Amino acid sequence: MAEERSSGSKRSKQVVLDLGRRFEKRGGTLVGKILTGKKLNVPTVVSMIKKGWQLDEEVDVHDLDRNHLVFLFRFDNSDDYARILKGRPWSIQGHLLNLQIWEDFMVLKDVDFRYAPFWLQFHGLPLEAFDGSNAKILGDAVGETVMYEKPVVDGKLVRSFIRVRALLLLDAPLTTGFWVPRKDKDPVWVTVRYERLQNFCYRCGRIGHKSCGCKDVNASNGDVDDSDFGNWLSTPMVRTFEDILEVCKEKWEEAEFVGKKNQNFRFRRNLMPAEKDTQVGKKLLQEEYSPEEYSPEQSDLENWNDWNSRVYTQLPADTLESEGLWPWP
Ligand SMILES: [Zn+2]
Repeated sequence: MAEERSSGSKRSKQVVLDLGRRFEKRGGTLVGKILTGKKLNVPTVVSMIKKGWQLDEEVDVHDLDRNHLVFLFRFDNSDDYARILKGRPWSIQGHLLNLQIWEDFMVLKDVDFRYAPFWLQFHGLPLEAFDGSNAKILGDAVGETVMYEKPVVDGKLVRSFIRVRALLLLDAPLTTGFWVPRKDKDPVWVTVRYERLQNFCYRCGRIGHKSCGCKDVNASNGDVDDSDFGNWLSTPMVRTFEDILEVCKEKWEEAEFVGKKNQNFRFRRNLMPAEKDTQVGKKLLQEEYSPEEYSPEQSDLENWNDWNSRVYTQLPADTLESEGLWPWP
């Protein structure tokens, strides 16, 4: 009855309120939902989030939800806000904290928590695949591409894999990889790695619960050896080369903060380990090298997978870490 009355009044009544801003404009506001079926201790969660973020200035945290899984974060400092926004996905105790922008005049039910942005890495691609349009296709095969790092700059490969920022539909299973057809060769299996992916279900491949809490009746029986899913899908976040980002999604919010900091672009150094190893590496590093001169020979392409697997394993871990490349999956 109450519902009837209220929906009736929804049709007929409008109350105009003064929605003048009562809050002073701060660094920015985000809203975050923790994806878990578990009960979490709010003070612990809030202090862990604050500690993990290492902010320069204060953030106000408000609990918005009866189940204590949705929080509003009001940042004092806009650099803090931008860094947390760009650093998504964040996790708390292994559970995804799905952060979204809180806009003026918003209410909680306006927020779309169905999607979250992740950085994806595509490994095992032939050299010929390294270009921007393919990066977008790869991201769209897994989610919706919002931006990508140009795979080749000035004729040089930036990384040994293609890196794409994509919105993932959290209700869908993660994509582990796919076959890519090649001319005169067998199709090649391309693997997908998810940066900063934490708890997810090894049975159905979804984020938000673990295998023991899986309710998907069609999922595999949970035999880890047999599963398509495992912790190998996750990889640490590498440093983003902001100077070479290409934005695909109109008004993508993170794009506004891209390139304002960390201008020193050093992608060439990433190729250093290859120098003494393979013909591919040598060619990429030649100072006099120019794109027109480079046409990979068959032997180079055969070396490619070998190079992929060896290139980062021969440097000490601290060097790799400083290059943002550790660990190799
Ligand atoms: Zn599941």
